[in-house]
Amino acid sequence: MRKTVVVDQDECISCGVCVDSIPEVFRFADSGKAEAYDPAGASEDKIQQEAIDACPVSCIHWRE
Ligand code: SF4
Repeated sequence: MRKTVVVDQDECISCGVCVDSIPEVFRFADSGKAEAYDPAGASEDKIQQEAIDACPVSCIHWRE
């Protein structure tokens, strides 16, 4: 089964990197924190490299 991706909103600092890089997957929730609204919106490689690896506080994670 495909992995899904989640944002730990307690840790997110709303920097916008993931939202700007992959708007097909990430957006800002009403809380002002990022959320993964469509985990299947981009390839796992792209999510890994452009969001998980790029997040300055490492708060984006895979969930099996
Ligand atoms: S890159 Fe990380 S800290 Fe920045 S908005 Fe996305 S989840 Fe939040």
